Amino acid sequence: MHAPRVIFHMDMDAFYASVEQRDRPEWQGKPVIVGAPPDRRGVVCAASYEARKFGVRSAMPSVTAGRLCPDGIFVRPRMDAYRDESRAIMSLVKTFAGELVQQVSVDEAYLEVTDRVPPGEPDAMLEAALPIAREIKATIKAQRQLTATIGIAPNKLLAKIASSNFKPDGLTLIKDSEKTAFLRPLPVGAIHGVGKVTEQGLLKLGLKTVADLQDYPGDLRSAVGSWGNELRRMAFGDDDRPLDLGDDIKSVSAENTFLKDTAHRPTLRSCLHEQAEDIATRLRKRRLAARTIQVKVRYSDFTTLTRQVSVDDPIDDERLIYRFACWLLARHELVKRPLRLIGVGVSGLAEVTVRQMELPFEVKARS
Ligand SMILES: [Mg+2]
Repeated sequence: MHAPRVIFHMDMDAFYASVEQRDRPEWQGKPVIVGAPPDRRGVVCAASYEARKFGVRSAMPSVTAGRLCPDGIFVRPRMDAYRDESRAIMSLVKTFAGELVQQVSVDEAYLEVTDRVPPGEPDAMLEAALPIAREIKATIKAQRQLTATIGIAPNKLLAKIASSNFKPDGLTLIKDSEKTAFLRPLPVGAIHGVGKVTEQGLLKLGLKTVADLQDYPGDLRSAVGSWGNELRRMAFGDDDRPLDLGDDIKSVSAENTFLKDTAHRPTLRSCLHEQAEDIATRLRKRRLAARTIQVKVRYSDFTTLTRQVSVDDPIDDERLIYRFACWLLARHELVKRPLRLIGVGVSGLAEVTVRQMELPFEVKARS
């Protein structure tokens, strides 16, 4: 039995779009879509909640977004502004949690506040942290005019589930004594690190919900390999991962140099394909996803160019990485001459997003 902990997961709501709406008050309450204009080849990087109501999602082609939401306000991304905002928010958050802040992406962080509440029973400590979370939300609102969602729980796994399911402007607490019951109705994909591959392995055993995992009498290692034991612990809401305060990996990349310079499209495409697959595999192994996708090309004269695109919802799917890479090549007309080297890289890494899910029962969200 580990000493009880109090962990927050803080996630800004529709971050890029909210920054735009704050800076242009006339856009408040309107469908704002950050990304390429709807008459261009390009993608949506982020959508305000008003735009999401029309079905607009990040990583969707802008043309589709324009069709779904003809009155949408399309805005070019201002990455510098989002990065500045991120720095301001994170330094604000540190006034509440000191150095115990693990920033996992531009708008998302874990905070450990265990030492900021009186020691006691796990549930009592969690309850005692509610005012701290309220104050963080209020301070962000007052000083940055943006809303944050916070999940409070005894560990990272549950804190992230708590924040992911009750947005925007949410404040949700999962008690230690209720964690097993809380998780039961959720799909297996709600567990940190369960991606499509693992999900398929579990489905073969008929395991669809976390309840199925909890009740499974066999050895989960037969379905998911060495990770089985950890997965079972997580299914019961146990997770003792500490905050990662050290240097995380910052990027993952793959590249190929050709024996002979080439502009042959099928060759380049199959290269990108393999690279995207390689990157996706490495991301999934670390249960990470990426917000920024970059291509790199080098020409015969050794000129090297890189071009990148960022999306709001991190991706770990090889097809999407591949699609973005192809789009970048076309968009910037990078293959006008034969290439000596081609490569794909991803950065802006974040933990795999817990998929939004409908809960089949009411959970008390306090605020
Ligand atoms: Mg967010």
